[in-house]
Amino acid sequence: MSDNSLNGGLVSSAYNQALEVIASVEPRVAAATRQELADQRASLKLIASENYASPAVLLTMGTWFSDKYAEGTVGHRFYAGCQNVDTVESLAAEHARELFGAEYAYVQPHSGIDANLTAYWAILAHRVEGPWLTDAGVKNMNDLSEADWEKLRAALGNQRLLGMSLDAGGHLTHGFRPNISGKMFHQNQYGTDPATGLVDYDALRAKAKEFKPLILVAGYSAYPRRVNFAKMREIADEVGATLMVDMAHFAGLVAGKVFTGDEDPVPHAHVVTSTSHKSLRGPRGGFILATEEYAPSVDRGCPMVLGGPLSHVMAAKAVAFAEARTPEFQTYAQNIADNAQTLAEGLMKRGTKLVTDGTDNHIVLLDVSSFGLTGRQAESALLDAGVVTNRNSVPADPNGAWYTSGIRVGTPALTSRGFGADEFDAVADLIVEVLQNTQAGTTSAGAPSKASYVLGDGVADKVRARSAELLDKHPLYPGLDLA
Ligand SMILES: *Cc1c(COP(=O)(O)O)cnc(C)c1O
Repeated sequence: MSDNSLNGGLVSSAYNQALEVIASVEPRVAAATRQELADQRASLKLIASENYASPAVLLTMGTWFSDKYAEGTVGHRFYAGCQNVDTVESLAAEHARELFGAEYAYVQPHSGIDANLTAYWAILAHRVEGPWLTDAGVKNMNDLSEADWEKLRAALGNQRLLGMSLDAGGHLTHGFRPNISGKMFHQNQYGTDPATGLVDYDALRAKAKEFKPLILVAGYSAYPRRVNFAKMREIADEVGATLMVDMAHFAGLVAGKVFTGDEDPVPHAHVVTSTSHKSLRGPRGGFILATEEYAPSVDRGCPMVLGGPLSHVMAAKAVAFAEARTPEFQTYAQNIADNAQTLAEGLMKRGTKLVTDGTDNHIVLLDVSSFGLTGRQAESALLDAGVVTNRNSVPADPNGAWYTSGIRVGTPALTSRGFGADEFDAVADLIVEVLQNTQAGTTSAGAPSKASYVLGDGVADKVRARSAELLDKHPLYPGLDLA
């Protein structure tokens, strides 16, 4: 965890003093903040979307940049006195462009969802609004009559979006009804091959040809395999779609050059969206990369979708992206992928069924139905034993999206702590130990339950003791001692 083990004394005194300042106003917040560190240090964090940002990234977020309004873009703000925000926003964008080899980077989105909503409206503005205004002979939107506005709204709405289905590993923001993307777009989904669990590009091409989407969305939150983005672009081009890749989950593997060539979305997509806090290990936030063609529309994220940017988080993005440009980060990213292999092999050799029978990214998706459990039961039993995971649908999940049949685990966080092959093999053993010793429970009326479970006597304590050994060997934020 080289880039997380800055001068321990310096980091300790920074946090001890900060906590003292906080405690002088609301001691319960200071206490909860201390407890959160203790809890994170003591748990086996396998949530695939979480990580541990460096002290430099975390400290950057706690400053007076938070106090500044800076709506607009660098050099073109709706507020006075934004010269220092301009500096950090420019730095973050420059690092992002260099890191990912992108033509343009927009670092204002506050989260992954904001980045996607901003990107969708940018694509609509570029693909629909612009041509529509030209066709209607309108130079200035202020000249639109009410009747014209009606027509423009109709033209913008009901556009077709094709994304990966939720149970194949897609994300809510890729056109699912509970999310605004499923309401603003006429959406359709592509899935995975039922036999292999892999994206079936031929089926996807056939569906795209039939559906003719304006936007083809690639990217996932729970797919344990790499995607061929060159092929995705070919399909998008064949049907005249804009290819948007949401790399929220795997941005760290792109930044660390584990995904290159056809697996690197940046050279192939028109627009790439991302979070900065998952495998990329930055502050909680989002960002967008785009080609020159789409840049002017993306640049209007504020005021189209966003208000004032979080300047303190943009500053922290600049720090995190600078970290990600180092050779150490490339080693980290390769370790994430290598560790996922070890974890998957460790689970399979102990009899666990995995979706796609393995992984080649940072995600491992267990099908826990072979243990006679739902994802909900497995998640709860693992948590009792201090193993933090999340339940997740598997393709064509018979238990639906609430109870599910899967458990999703990922390697970015524990790899940041320095876990390697031996530790991840031990983690596989701990997971299987819990699942083998958990039985599905019954309802109070004696019927089979999808939620209740019985964990064997002493299993939780035994697993906790064994994970404590692993965690003690690889401390989180080594050298950071709270008084
Ligand atoms: C996590 C995730 C998001 C949402 O990110 P938030 O920062 O939680 O809004 C969007 N898309 C994908 C694919 C994700 O995995």
